[in-house]
Amino acid sequence: RPTKKLGQNFVHDPNTVRRIVATADLTPDDVVLEVGPGLGSLTLALLPACERVVAVELDPVLAERLPQTAADRAPELAGNLTVIHADAMRVAREQLGEPTALVANLPYNVAVPVVLHLLAEVPSLRTVLVMVQAEVADRMAAGPGSRVYGVPSVKVAWYAEARRVATVSRSVFWPVPNVDSALVLLKRREVPTGVARAEVFKVVDSAFAQRRKTLRAALAGLAGSPAVAERALVEAGVDPGLRGEQLSVRDYVRIAQAFTRLS
Ligand code: SAM
Repeated sequence: RPTKKLGQNFVHDPNTVRRIVATADLTPDDVVLEVGPGLGSLTLALLPACERVVAVELDPVLAERLPQTAADRAPELAGNLTVIHADAMRVAREQLGEPTALVANLPYNVAVPVVLHLLAEVPSLRTVLVMVQAEVADRMAAGPGSRVYGVPSVKVAWYAEARRVATVSRSVFWPVPNVDSALVLLKRREVPTGVARAEVFKVVDSAFAQRRKTLRAALAGLAGSPAVAERALVEAGVDPGLRGEQLSVRDYVRIAQAFTRLS
């Protein structure tokens, strides 16, 4: 029986699985990290498309069953699969090797934290193709000014260019969830140098913590006072009367740099 708590909605439609693998655009030397392989429908389609699959599954029963499923269904490729019974949010980098792509139908309740965690922890990941709730896909790919632009959008943009590439009907899942899904493709880019990610993310979190406030007010706590916040914003070339949802990740980088200089 699927467990709701673990976000277990399994894809049973072979066309959807093929579409995910095709969209990931893998080469034979890619090492794919799959989070939440479940019953293995995506895993089995990934194996012929890459060099190895490293699958991280939290459910002990599913993790234990997957190697046998691969041995039965794809005996000649089963040796290219490593299954790790672990929480993708906690798994140690050394356990994963150096995967080049993350391809996954993610457990929905933790999709954004899992993606952000793995982008931070696993620098070898160049490409991420994940199936998530449609609304979350929109949020991950949103740009400044969009209604759904928020903390996940800015943080994802720190690491990568994100694009929503396809919509997937809820009917391809078992059990059928009450929302549609979408595929998001992330291409990693160079991260800005000369500023620590933690500093930038602190500014982002503060700017969005009180959505209706201007940056001058929202960043006052972090800066120590509205006056210092105002000065940092002006130095960064950002109008202190704007709000967090109007800024790009580049703006946040400049603000964090100004904060660092002024502190
Ligand atoms: N990939 C399968 C498919 O497409 O049919 C299953 C996808 S299902 C949406 C999510 C899977 O992630 C489940 O197998 C669940 O047990 C697993 N899972 C949930 N939380 C996890 C976590 N924190 N780390 C690793 N796997 C997790």
